[in-house]
Amino acid sequence: LLQAQGVLMQFGGLKALNNVDLIVKRGTIHGLIGPNGSGKSTMMNVLTGIYTPTAGTVSFAGKTLAGRTSSDIALSGVARTFQNVQLFGEMSALQNVMVGLHHSFRSNLLDVALHLPRYLRENREASVRAMGLLRFVGLADLAGEEARNLPYGKQRLLEIARALALDPELLLLDEPAAGLTAPDIKELLAIIQKIREHGVTVILIEHHMDVVMSLCDTVSVLDFGQKIAEGLPAEVQANEKVIEAYLGGQAT
Ligand code: ATP
Ligand code: MG
Repeated sequence: LLQAQGVLMQFGGLKALNNVDLIVKRGTIHGLIGPNGSGKSTMMNVLTGIYTPTAGTVSFAGKTLAGRTSSDIALSGVARTFQNVQLFGEMSALQNVMVGLHHSFRSNLLDVALHLPRYLRENREASVRAMGLLRFVGLADLAGEEARNLPYGKQRLLEIARALALDPELLLLDEPAAGLTAPDIKELLAIIQKIREHGVTVILIEHHMDVVMSLCDTVSVLDFGQKIAEGLPAEVQANEKVIEAYLGGQAT
């Protein structure tokens, strides 16, 4: 489904990604791991069009992604969450998900006025669908709460619901378990499994190795912008280069 080749992302003299290849098969969960600063989020930003790579190619469902805008990429079926939760804090949980639904109306008041019945119908359909997504992540009871008042774990789930509103083929999650309590992580695991069962392909950046082990079909490991290992989770975990990279990270 996704294929990146020779991706180089340079910030001044720093090669945040150095000649990285990545292949993610349809219907799988692919883990992207590595020590802090190894380039994981940068890779996600390249895949979602936030950064244009200095060199290299990215193709998704057979079409090239590199160089396209992030909204174009999102609408073509690639959704994501962020390492630092990005919600509209003063909006309700339901409204946050509705923002993720693609409307033919874009806050153009004249357009709305001219087609009021259609606007009302589509808005109602969007709210029904947003409610369904909140139910999917277990937040139906909190639909009316302002996003900023939700506990952190729930905010992370809300961000996932909003990403799912795009009806993506590929979902990128940047450390969804970070800062979550053990029960929250359990809930998150079940939700990611359900997402996979719905046929959505997932790229998962994660520091919690138990999450990676229980969810991922395949894993790639980055270290200083380079891919140092790839394979089944258990193989990767036992790989000496990977162990060394993590020990090096702990020593500093
Ligand atoms: P973490 O686990 O801490 O989230 P990461 O693997 O996601 O780490 P990145 O955020 O991808 O790491 O960062 C990789 C490197 O690229 C870091 O050295 C970072 O400082 C650098 N970097 C990332 N974005 C930029 C930017 N916009 N400008 C300059 N340097 C950047
Ligand atoms: Mg990161």
